[in-house]
Amino acid sequence: MSIFSILKNAAPSMKFERVTDIFPEDIKRLGAKTVFLDLDNTCVCYGSNYVDPDIREWVSRLKESGLKVAVLSNTIPVRGHIVASKLGSLPCFCLACKPLPFMALLAAKILRTSPEEIVMIGDKLTADILCANIIGAYSIKVDKLAGVILRQQEERLRVAAQ
Ligand SMILES: [Mg+2]
Repeated sequence: MSIFSILKNAAPSMKFERVTDIFPEDIKRLGAKTVFLDLDNTCVCYGSNYVDPDIREWVSRLKESGLKVAVLSNTIPVRGHIVASKLGSLPCFCLACKPLPFMALLAAKILRTSPEEIVMIGDKLTADILCANIIGAYSIKVDKLAGVILRQQEERLRVAAQ
């Protein structure tokens, strides 16, 4: 695989600022029925176990709409399972070594779904999006969560200062 085909493979199907901007209809319009969610900088700040209530609600809206949702993370299992249960008792596949495709394919097999029915949502082109494109799944790139929170804080301070 040349560097050019790797870069081409790191192009997402769609882009959003944060996960809560993604509606179930956006995912279904792609043709996906299963969502693989990255954790760090996508659902929680890097290394944090704190789950924002907005994100927990967003996950439950996806599930209510009939989508299957699972966590696919490079983090260690102990932490991954804590965060996945806070997100709404999600199936959790850790030590995924994204962009390597093996854990994503195993997760698809365990969840009885196929790559063409999966959308991978994550913040990293070279991990989440590349992994999705290697296995033939859809992908949605979101901005790094910490950056979004910082911008919102800046905006609040700016408004408060006026
Ligand atoms: Mg991430």
